[in-house]
Amino acid sequence: MPDIVVVGAGQAGASLVARLRKDGFEGRITLIGQEPALPYQRPPLSKAYLLGDMELERLYLRPRHFYDEAGIDLRLGASVDAIDRAARTVHVGGEAIPYDTLVLTTGSAPRRLPAAIGGDLEGVHVVRDLADADAMGPRFGPGARVLIVGGGYIGLEAAAVAATKGLQVTLVEMSSRILSRVAAPETSDFFRALHSEHGVDIREGVGLEALTGEGHVSGARLSDGSTLDVEFVIVGVGIAPGTALAEAAGLEIDNGIAVDAMGRTSDPAIWAAGDCASFPYKGARLRLESVPNAIDMAECVAENIMGADRPYVPKPWFWSDQYEVKLQIAGLGAGYDRIVTRPALAARSVSFWYYAAGKLLAVDAMNDPRAYMVGKRLIEAGRSPDPQAVADPQVDLKSLLA
Ligand code: FAD
Repeated sequence: MPDIVVVGAGQAGASLVARLRKDGFEGRITLIGQEPALPYQRPPLSKAYLLGDMELERLYLRPRHFYDEAGIDLRLGASVDAIDRAARTVHVGGEAIPYDTLVLTTGSAPRRLPAAIGGDLEGVHVVRDLADADAMGPRFGPGARVLIVGGGYIGLEAAAVAATKGLQVTLVEMSSRILSRVAAPETSDFFRALHSEHGVDIREGVGLEALTGEGHVSGARLSDGSTLDVEFVIVGVGIAPGTALAEAAGLEIDNGIAVDAMGRTSDPAIWAAGDCASFPYKGARLRLESVPNAIDMAECVAENIMGADRPYVPKPWFWSDQYEVKLQIAGLGAGYDRIVTRPALAARSVSFWYYAAGKLLAVDAMNDPRAYMVGKRLIEAGRSPDPQAVADPQVDLKSLLA
């Protein structure tokens, strides 16, 4: 039995080792993670956990005894600093750990603001790790003034938590609308209105010029010439895939660690999965940043290490929680040429259906789990319902599946 070493004890790493054992892999498994915490789920870090509605224990994907009982050598607080491909070892401090098969599930790292514009001042936070959420949590006192930089899902979720806790929230988005990278204008409009109702001051088409302060951030200068007094700042301006180790080891990189359809990197002994990996998709390369992708891809790679030879086919879906709204997204909307709106009966419920040349690509469903579920099944089956039927709230969605 080969020795398998997995670098990165996050969502993908933890899913991969569990699947290996479930599928009967009996060799040695070592899971190495640089964070001190047991592998945990990140989504609540900008939602229920940040709000104080979720205990730490519930973040953990599995209890400690799972790893012990499954014979998984879980090494936490251990950072791999190099891969020696010739010797087939990874280096953790002074120790060289041998592998026959190596899997990289190194996730991604948040982009930070440059020090030249005050990005290194105290009180400037990102939200990626448990430690980030714990560091900013105590600042969420009622009345505190927070600036959120970036109107993507992470920034908007943090804004929702802050507004719910009674903070004074300003959010700046450099592009002309929030969510412009990931959603249609209809979805942006929906969330802009939702946040405005909750008192969040959203400024679109406005960039951050600089953060100011002596040691600790106390102000911000914006591109429209305005200034703000702030007590802390949350930066949500995207992430970069964790490719440093792979790159230093000479593996092929292409918007992430490039893998083939099976999840293998340019070195056949090394695989990759999750946020850090880009894989072939419809003639191009795709990298997804989501929990479902981390789990599904990691499980597929585990099966392939065991010889399944199964190409990874993503079934993209995503969610976001903001105030009383649950957004569920099925599919990938990029390249759409038409949005069909389907009103729903319940308050604050609506869904937006993305089409390109008559083909259904994606659905954004707000407080409408049925629209999400039906849309997801249609997309996965490659079926495209008549837009007129979709737009008519009297048409039973389930009839679209018939
Ligand atoms: P990660 O979970 O990031 O795990 C990678 C791990 O590798 C990290 O612990 C890292 O420390 C470790 N590592 C990296 N380099 C090394 C090294 N050299 N040595 C040892 N360890 C290393 N997705 C959704 O689908 N829905 C959501 O609502 C959602 N909300 C989110 C909210 C927040 C605040 C964040 C941060 C993410 C959210 N995501 C959401 C995204 C989702 O959490 C990620 O896509 C997912 O965690 C990716 O899993 P991963 O295993 O690839 O990476």
